[in-house]
Amino acid sequence: MQKRILVRNSPIHGKGVFAQVDISPGQRVAQYRGVVKSSEDAEADDLHGIDSGHTFLFSLNDQFLLDATRSRCAAKWFNHSCQPNCESVLYEHDSDDRSLDRIMFHAIRPIAPGDELTLSYGICLPVRHTKRMQALWACRCGADTCSGTMLAPR
Ligand SMILES: [Zn+2]
Repeated sequence: MQKRILVRNSPIHGKGVFAQVDISPGQRVAQYRGVVKSSEDAEADDLHGIDSGHTFLFSLNDQFLLDATRSRCAAKWFNHSCQPNCESVLYEHDSDDRSLDRIMFHAIRPIAPGDELTLSYGICLPVRHTKRMQALWACRCGADTCSGTMLAPR
């Protein structure tokens, strides 16, 4: 069976994720896999990654984040776009243990083979969003409505 998605170099930023087949809205395309960390631990760890303009941390819920730094999942390579064709969906575990929740990326628009799969990140850094930070986290998605930044207004 042909893989539905492929990781390769992206015109937006670094590596990206591309469709190999037609994907319909609502279809699940990837799971974000990583080490579960408490929000406080992850913020402390990632402060040294802030200057990279790239993060492998993804909020799982209000208590935990997923750290995909060492994960081999394709989902970690999704680029930000101001007009995304995918969204993240939280799958809550039946138990009360919120660390068992999962994050899946679903298509929200029809996607054709060769299209890059994107998400809207809305990153909020734990430091001031200075001019320098805005430059590091600039958006180059090319959408008509591009806000020019991956950072969410605080
Ligand atoms: Zn943009």
